[in-house]
Amino acid sequence: MGAIAISGSITEKISWARKTYEKTGKLILRDEETSRLLSDLQRAVTRSKGAMEEAGLLDRCRICDEVEGGSCCGKGIENRYDGYLLIINLALGVDLPAEPWDEKSCFFLLPGGCCLKARHVICINYLCKDVLDHVDPAALKELRMLEGEEINLVFHLHERIKEVLGPRDGTEPLNQCNG
Ligand code: SF4
Ligand code: SF4
Repeated sequence: MGAIAISGSITEKISWARKTYEKTGKLILRDEETSRLLSDLQRAVTRSKGAMEEAGLLDRCRICDEVEGGSCCGKGIENRYDGYLLIINLALGVDLPAEPWDEKSCFFLLPGGCCLKARHVICINYLCKDVLDHVDPAALKELRMLEGEEINLVFHLHERIKEVLGPRDGTEPLNQCNG
């Protein structure tokens, strides 16, 4: 297991994830369970986003970030992410940034919002008081249910990828993945 994946800086973790995925991507995607979980997560993320849109949350958060400067995606939250969660994002086709767009915000916050598909539980769960006070409770209940599925899938995928990689580190040669 790569120590950098757990305790490196965010740029070290991104570099570790890129290298590891480059060498083990085929092995990861060939694993049936991982492949199924990735498809399920992709669907769950799309459903959650739809529910957020429907609840008016995407617009509210966009205004908060772009107009009011009050986004909750603060600097330092990126450090909650480990290399395995970043590998999941790479497997979902996310282009991880090389540098932060805004030094005062989370490394993964881009002008259009969060660039990640597989988010940390803290990011999936968090809603500020303003949102909780203004969003229709029925829409919020639906959103919470979908987010629960998302959290569950991210957890299982994270564990599965660790299992598939075993003790391998992206810096070591992996002959079995080259074919
Ligand atoms: S959850 Fe609240 S604080 Fe965070 S971006 Fe949305 S409106 Fe702003
Ligand atoms: S939602 Fe995305 S941009 Fe916001 S804190 Fe989480 S990882 Fe960063």
